[in-house]
This record gives sequence, structure tokens and C-alpha cells, in this order.
Amino acid sequence: MRKGRTFVVSGPSGVGKSTVLKALLESRKNLYFSVSATTRDPRPGELDGIHYHFMDVESFRKWIAMDQFLEYAEYVGNFYGTPKKFVDDAMEAGKDVILDIEIQGAIQVCSKRPDTVRIFIAPPSWAELERRLTERGTDSPEKIQKRLLRAKVEFQTAHTYDYFVINDTVENAVGELNAIITAEHCKPQERME
Ligand code: 5GP
Repeated sequence: MRKGRTFVVSGPSGVGKSTVLKALLESRKNLYFSVSATTRDPRPGELDGIHYHFMDVESFRKWIAMDQFLEYAEYVGNFYGTPKKFVDDAMEAGKDVILDIEIQGAIQVCSKRPDTVRIFIAPPSWAELERRLTERGTDSPEKIQKRLLRAKVEFQTAHTYDYFVINDTVENAVGELNAIITAEHCKPQERME
């Protein structure tokens, strides 16, 4: 059986990745979301095991020591990591997996799995990103400025990704992501194995 593919999506905090990925996952049967572990507190409405595996720093460090992460990184004061087993099991079962991770993690995944497809999701403008972060209402003004600063640094690396999607509307972004995944499966090396 053909193995599944790994897709990494990165982009500034607040760009709307979660909304876009939710709609994408609903529209694509063989695509599964890799639920990350994090040491940050849950936001209102976020559920353990669905949006993240929420854990304390001590547990996170134990997972690192036991080599349970495919990658992990620190982001604006918290740790985030991708549980290795889920990604490996899904791929072996022929399922595609999508990871919503920041750039340091994306670099780690791609160095371990060079056939990973990297997609950068950008906001239509910086003003719009600030508006979305403020409207979300989950971060203090100071934290929003930190996330914006980090977003501008991340943007400098966008050209190293395989694809660049602008989230102007959810519909457009989902359409482009669907097209990318389909195109990747039409490559000769995928079809002619
Ligand atoms: P948030 O706190 O807004 O949910 O996520 C902050 C950042 O952490 C986002 O850019 C998100 O893509 C990234 N992130 C989420 N899960 C992971 C992960 O498992 N590994 C890494 N490296 N970054 C992650």
C-alpha cells in the first residue's frame, strides 16, 4: 500500500490556520490532523486531545527525554511538539497527515523527512493580522505585539516553503490547499510506484 504524505502548514499566529484547516479536514477524507502537545494554557473552547494535548513543562520534558516528539520548539514562552507515533502510524496506514507548526519545527520535520510538503499561510496584510489577533481577544496587547514581531520574522522564511497561500477568505485558502494536496498526489513518483 502507498504510504501517506506529510504536509506542514506554518504561518503567523492569528492568520486563521485553525479555521482554514478545520474546513480543509472536513472537505478531505484521507487527511488527518496531527494534534500537538503544548505547555500553554487552553483558550476558551479548546479541548484536550482535540485542539492540543495540554501538558505541564515537566511532562513535556519527559516526552523529550523519551524521544516521543517528531519535532518540538519554544514559541513565545511555551513549548509545542508533534507526537511522533501518530504521524508514523497514519503514514504507514496510507493516510495523509497535516501539521500546523511554526518554522523551527517545520525545519526539523523536513530534515528528518525530506519528502514533507511545506505550505506557508500568510495574511492579506499586517494590519489585517493585527486586527484578527485583537479580535480573537485571547492575548494581552503585549503578547499580541510579541506574536506580531515573531510573525514578521517568520515571514522572512516564507520563500523556503514549497507553497505560499494567502488567507484572504477561508474559501480561497481551502481551495488552494486542496489543489496543492491533489497536485502532490499527481506527481509521477506517487503514481508510478
Ligand atoms: P497557538 O498558541 O496560537 O495555538 O500556536 C502558536 C504557534 O505554535 C503557531 O504558529 C502554531 O503553528 C505553532 N505550533 C502548534 N503546534 C506546534 C507543534 O507541535 N510544534 C511546533 N513547532 N509548533 C507548533
